[in-house]
Amino acid sequence: MNVLFLGTGTSHGVPMIACDCAVCRSADPRDNRLRPSIYVEGDEGTRILVDTTPDLRQQALRHDIRRVDAVLYTHAHADHVLGLDELRRFNHLTRQPVPLYGDRGTLDQIRKTFAYAFDKDAPAGGGVPDLAMHTIDARPFRIGGQEIIPVPVRHGQWSILGFRFGRFAYLTDCNAVPDASMALLHDLDVLVLDALRHRPHPTHFTVAQAVEVAKVIGARQTLFTHICHDLGHAETSAKLPPGIGLAYDGQRLTL
Ligand SMILES: [Zn+2]
Ligand SMILES: [Zn+2]
Ligand SMILES: [Zn+2]
Repeated sequence: MNVLFLGTGTSHGVPMIACDCAVCRSADPRDNRLRPSIYVEGDEGTRILVDTTPDLRQQALRHDIRRVDAVLYTHAHADHVLGLDELRRFNHLTRQPVPLYGDRGTLDQIRKTFAYAFDKDAPAGGGVPDLAMHTIDARPFRIGGQEIIPVPVRHGQWSILGFRFGRFAYLTDCNAVPDASMALLHDLDVLVLDALRHRPHPTHFTVAQAVEVAKVIGARQTLFTHICHDLGHAETSAKLPPGIGLAYDGQRLTL
């Protein structure tokens, strides 16, 4: 299985608009972070996109993504859904609807946010994305040959989904992992976990909190994502314990 980080930044991205801080002005490409998303190529060849960020067009062009067999949604916050309209291009390539997977609340919110795409009375050929919605709950499911285990996590007042694929798990946007979900995270080669910044935040782990959770989960490697401009890549990475690091845009993993 291969995993490609399409974006590792928080909702504003890094650099942030109109910010002159050292990280936003950094020449290190690892300090350049688009909005958070990964692209997973399963062992059976199934290509899965996790979330459709406002940067999806740029992400797909940068990495020459030509195929999306399904989109998994973690939740419906703007930094995770607002690139949905870009899926039209994959409709054109396959002449098929793009399958979207998410929990009921997420898909309901997507139907509201993108009402034009679900308007049955709209004239045909209106250039709207053609989407096939699949509601998931906490049970494992399959896309093509790939088994996916939903991993519910706390994100402030919301319960949203992380996903486990084999020995890899992706938990973006969280500030707590319930015990029942911890039980789904044993024997991981790679864990991806939210770590926004050092200062506390009501809906995201700080770096210190993420390190603590990562140690309990005990994956062979843990990579942090959803990173804001407070964290320079090189400086922050140097202070993290062995086996824990910051992910960066364009990083590829082979599992
Ligand atoms: Zn900045
Ligand atoms: Zn969020
Ligand atoms: Zn987010």
